[in-house]
Amino acid sequence: MMELDRRPRRGIIFILSAPSGAGKTTISRAALQRISGLEPSVSITTRTPRDGEADGIDYRFVSDDEFIRIRDAGELAEWARVFDASYGTPRAPLERAVAEGRDIMLDIDIQGARQIRINYPDDTATIFVLPPSFAELEERLRGRGTEDEAAIRRRLQRARAEASAWPEYDYLIINDELEQSIAQLGAVVAAERMRAARLRREFDPWRS
Ligand code: 5GP
Repeated sequence: MMELDRRPRRGIIFILSAPSGAGKTTISRAALQRISGLEPSVSITTRTPRDGEADGIDYRFVSDDEFIRIRDAGELAEWARVFDASYGTPRAPLERAVAEGRDIMLDIDIQGARQIRINYPDDTATIFVLPPSFAELEERLRGRGTEDEAAIRRRLQRARAEASAWPEYDYLIINDELEQSIAQLGAVVAAERMRAARLRREFDPWRS
């Protein structure tokens, strides 16, 4: 368990991206449980819920019309089309967290990560997760058993293309062993929280 520092600073937007099958969801769930002061961002999506997914927790599931309404009202900090569905990050909770000094973690795709980096350049830390090999990725994707063959093929093809985006990110985690990957993510969070540039100018490090 990592303790939260008490220095006055803006909140950090941690972005976790990965090709599907890299084990990102497992890492991010564990990180949210174990790293104190790290909050999830709940995206809206037009895709149908998978077994075990809860509305308002994993995603807020909305209709196509509702998505368009929310997007056109400017209520999304970023949005993208992924696998024939739309996904977006609600703007208000994100900006509130940053202003109030709370750290938030976004589990979003590469297109979304690019938009957030452009819109909030001083407040983001981006992390890319890769499986140790492409064969491993294929195995994980098939093992999930939630999709038919055609959907798996599409995801694999897309995953290969997505994997090549890793140099755009600040940090790279090769997810060979889950515990080690979680520890590495914890190290990134700890280091980002210590960055002097994030501290408010009125902060006096010598006042107890
Ligand atoms: P899944 O449907 O498997 O939950 O997610 C598919 C992809 O959409 C994943 O790469 C996930 O990170 C991404 N994603 C989830 N929420 C968002 C979001 O709000 N914005 C963007 N751009 N991508 C998202």
